[in-house]
Amino acid sequence: MDTNKIREAVRLFLEGIGEDPQREGLLETPDRVARMCEEIYGGLGNDAAEHLSKQFTVGNNEMVLEKDITFYSTCEHHLLPFYGKAHIAYIPDGRVVGLSKLARTVEVYARRPQIQEQLTVQIADALDKFISPRGVMVMIEAEHMCMTMRGVKKPGSKTVTFAARGCFAEDHEKQKMFMEMLKA
Ligand code: ZN
Repeated sequence: MDTNKIREAVRLFLEGIGEDPQREGLLETPDRVARMCEEIYGGLGNDAAEHLSKQFTVGNNEMVLEKDITFYSTCEHHLLPFYGKAHIAYIPDGRVVGLSKLARTVEVYARRPQIQEQLTVQIADALDKFISPRGVMVMIEAEHMCMTMRGVKKPGSKTVTFAARGCFAEDHEKQKMFMEMLKA
């Protein structure tokens, strides 16, 4: 990440909106924003493979569900936050990953300029690719600041997205089971 470019861009941005980047309160802002970017866009230099390559063999192939994985991302259209919860289920085909790796995978794709639909698909495809399970289902519920603090201003409204792969895509009973387990 080129933090010099970020600092320069923030100074220009402040000037652009009519601020004085030299006033006391803003002096260190370019630096703060640059450091923040390394964290909130840190997923750009990351690959889900590093989290999903360590796997364990299992004898039973029952559904694994990790729900309420809190995430924060940035909408690529407005560079405003969107945040909420991801729910991930998969039915293994002899191999599983550590539960924390599912949350790590969410972070890899959330910490970059993003849209919710793509975030959902990227998580599902990464699990599908690296664990090769019988099926994967990802559901994300999120609130978008670009919908609440600007534009249509509908605080509390949630956007819900799904992605299903393998047996979850083919078998509606499996999708129903996922929904039931989310409510439990
Ligand atoms: Zn937006």
